[in-house]
Order: sequence, then structure tokens, then C-alpha cells
Amino acid sequence: MTQETYHKVIDRIYREVLPYHGRGKVADYIPALSEVDPRQYGIALETLDGATVAKGDASTCFSIQSISKVFTFAMVVRHLGEKIWESVGREPSGNPFNSLVQLEHEKGIPRNPFINAGALVITDRLIDIYPRPKEAILDFVRELCGNNDIYYDRRVAVSEREHADRNMALAYFMKSFGNIHNDVDTLIDVYCHQCSIAMNCIDLARSFKFLAHRGVNPIDGKRILTESQAKRLGAVMATCGFYDESGDFAFRVGLPGKSGVGGGIVAYLPGKLSIAVWSPELDSHGNSLMGIETLERFTTDISSSIF
Ligand code: GLU
Repeated sequence: MTQETYHKVIDRIYREVLPYHGRGKVADYIPALSEVDPRQYGIALETLDGATVAKGDASTCFSIQSISKVFTFAMVVRHLGEKIWESVGREPSGNPFNSLVQLEHEKGIPRNPFINAGALVITDRLIDIYPRPKEAILDFVRELCGNNDIYYDRRVAVSEREHADRNMALAYFMKSFGNIHNDVDTLIDVYCHQCSIAMNCIDLARSFKFLAHRGVNPIDGKRILTESQAKRLGAVMATCGFYDESGDFAFRVGLPGKSGVGGGIVAYLPGKLSIAVWSPELDSHGNSLMGIETLERFTTDISSSIF
């Protein structure tokens, strides 16, 4: 498909989905997130052969929240390799992102790296590996999208830290099983920061190009993950990337991707393209309602998905 065709497809979808404003609800469990103007909607698409399309609020920065879990996982897996699967599983949980229920039965080993418990284990390992973890995360994300201005939104980080009781509980519980190594306050501080990273759709689409490109960042030609690690990360995204709506996302959209409660979704088609959508109003599972609607129409219109 040419850049012009993608433009037409994205333009049409944007017009069709715009009237969906008002059907979802902005996340309100972290005060700083609840203050976001709900009526925003952006789309950015990047193909590996150089087409770029940006539409609507594609240049507005927002809180990437759980999308950061993909970045931290990539940082840890490139150091620990297969060993990481001793500490975290790779099965969908079927439970909400911050659920505690499975952890007791499963002896402190979270189901997957994208529920909060699993992401906390990953961030804990990241703290083991990097002496300055917060700087390392920002450096990594900046390198992936080629933008040195990516930043932590301190207001969101502080707000999230003040409402982190459940994440603290998850971390202490896993620590009792020996699956958290570091001080819980330090861990929660790093975790709240990674969630507070502010990015726009254009940067997000760029930052996922290395996954579409089988582990190599097409921006600078650097290998980030082995081909196998990239494939496996994609498999975990396709099965666990959308909270307890992951099956429905596979059914409706059919792309590996990750969402965050800030209303962002990034997904990619291996070997072809990456696409980011942002609209803060969420459905009942915590995924951007207009984001999913957009991506469902997109894979339908281009007649391509991983299935
Ligand atoms: N910062 C969020 C939390 O841990 C991440 C939520 C998300 O985007 O799923 O509560």
C-alpha cells in the first residue's frame, strides 16, 4: 500500500470513529489522569518502507501508563534471556490488571509481564541490572523513537505514587515469596515513573518499529532484541496485551499490541508497520474505546492482520 492509500484509510476511519466520543470514561483512579480532556483523538502510522501518517491529536503527549511495560520487559529480557520465565509466566490472566487473586495460588509468580504484578517483577529485575534505572528507561525509550525530549510527567508520577496502595500490596506479597528483590518503596517509585512517561502517537508508533522489524530498530539499524525474543514478546502482547479483553482484541483487531489506562494503544503488523492511537475515554476493561474501534476498522480496511 502507498502512503496515499494509508492516508485515505486513516482519514476515513478518523471521521467514522470521531462521533464515538462520550461512550467511554477517562480513568479516574489516579487523580492526575482524571484531569485529562476526554475529547482528544490521535492516530499515527509508520511503515517500515517509510510511509508516515499522522491524524488528529497525534502530536499531543499523554501518559503511556502500561505501554511502558513493553519497554521495561524488552530491557530486562535482553539481559536475562530465558531466565526471566522463572519469575514470570506467559499466560493470559483473565483478571483485571491490578488483581491479587491468582498470586497466592501461583506462589508469587505472576501470570504474565503485563498485569501489574508481572510488570512489578520486571521492574524489580531492571533495578537489579541498572544502577540508575529511571535514567536507563528514559534513555532506552528515547533511543527507540529517536527523540531525546521524551520525559517523565512528574505530576502524574507523584499522583500515581500517592495512590499506589494496591501496587505496594502486590509487591510486598510477591516479596514474601522471594520474587521481589529490592526495597518496595524504591520499586514503586521506579514503576510510577515508567507509567508516567509522556509520549505522543508519532513517537509511540516509532518506538514499536523495532518489533515490526523483528528486533532491529530501523531508525538506527541497531539490534534491540534477537529475532526470537522479538517474536516472543509479540506473542505475549497478542495474548496478554489488553488486560482481560485480550481475547476480544485478538478477535476484533488481530495485531500484537499494548494498551495503557491513559488511553493509548500501540500495535504492529510484523514486517510492515506500527500504529498508535490515543483517545482517553476507556471501555469497561480499561482499554481506549475509540482506540480499539479504530484498529478494528484499520485491519479490516487493509485486509491484513497476523491471522
Ligand atoms: N500505572 C498503572 C497502575 O499500575 C498502570 C495501569 C495501566 O495502564 O494498566 O495502576
